[in-house]
Amino acid sequence: MRLRKLREKLAADGLDAMLVTQPQNARYLSGFTGGNGVVLVVTPREAIAVTGFIYREQIQREAPDWELVEVKNKLVSAFPDLIARLGARRIGFESTHVTVDRHREWAEALTDCELVPVKDVVEDLRAVKDEEEIGVIEKAVAVADAAFAHIVEFIRPGMMEKEVGWELEAYMRTHGAEKVSFDIIVGSGPNGAMPHATVSERVIRAGEPIVMDLGAVVDGYCSDMTRTIVIGEPDDTFRAVYDTVLRAQIHAEAKIMPGMTGQEADAIAREIITEAGYGEAFGHSLGHGVGLAVHEKPRVTHMQDGNTLVPGMVFTVEPGVYLPGWGGVRIEDVVVLREDGCQVLTRSSKEPVVPL
Ligand code: ZN
Ligand code: ZN
Repeated sequence: MRLRKLREKLAADGLDAMLVTQPQNARYLSGFTGGNGVVLVVTPREAIAVTGFIYREQIQREAPDWELVEVKNKLVSAFPDLIARLGARRIGFESTHVTVDRHREWAEALTDCELVPVKDVVEDLRAVKDEEEIGVIEKAVAVADAAFAHIVEFIRPGMMEKEVGWELEAYMRTHGAEKVSFDIIVGSGPNGAMPHATVSERVIRAGEPIVMDLGAVVDGYCSDMTRTIVIGEPDDTFRAVYDTVLRAQIHAEAKIMPGMTGQEADAIAREIITEAGYGEAFGHSLGHGVGLAVHEKPRVTHMQDGNTLVPGMVFTVEPGVYLPGWGGVRIEDVVVLREDGCQVLTRSSKEPVVPL
């Protein structure tokens, strides 16, 4: 199915073959989990995995339907004979992943061919998930939900952000995650004003906002969630900001529909935050696709003409407000777009106050 769709795209673009090297794209097409150790060659009829000794057995096991070409030397050394055998002339490559050096090597090995930069072909296929993929993402979401429920019991004033981050990571890795999807963020007090502040040795205090952003990887698929809490009594700023961000998120999750562009979806939340006077403090996109990568298509952003959202897309809805010197509030769910709107996969509580 995935290969068939890729081949339709190759035919439409007049390509005789495509070289796939981006690790998540290679995994999506073949099942091979070994990252950069393979070049996939896809033609209208053939599906070939070019690799070295190290990954030979793994590819046979994970991608049994693919013809294996084992190379003793650099992978590119197989190209002249292989491409001649396939009779390919116009060959697509992934321009966002192939380095300038690698491109030069390939061009030198394939002097009779035209190397055509191709962008987002497999990425566009990956943006729309099948039910099996959605089921795996639900598991990854559930691991992060469980970690958050655990951390609410664990976290106390006097702990360092780093300790809380490690507890979240350890919990996920011992409760079903193969790894975490990205460096966990625990942004306490003023640190929360930096949307991607990871963790520091800052000691958490009662009464300040704490932004926690975490995700688990299950069977290669990522989850991504954020909750903002306060231990003890929040200040008035927190109440106003939190209420705004939560309203924006709930509204967006209720109103985003298939057929909208990512920009239109983003605007639903942005309008509410802007009307409340915090528009300048919401400097990032409303969301992003989640799958084999934690940031993938579709884009749900105000920044550029976006893609159209269609059923089967899985993405985050994560409005945020960041006030330098004070802190931040972000609330992030993973949703799957259905015919009738968003199905929210993240189940964690959005009650921000944790009793002292
Ligand atoms: Zn996140
Ligand atoms: Zn996110």
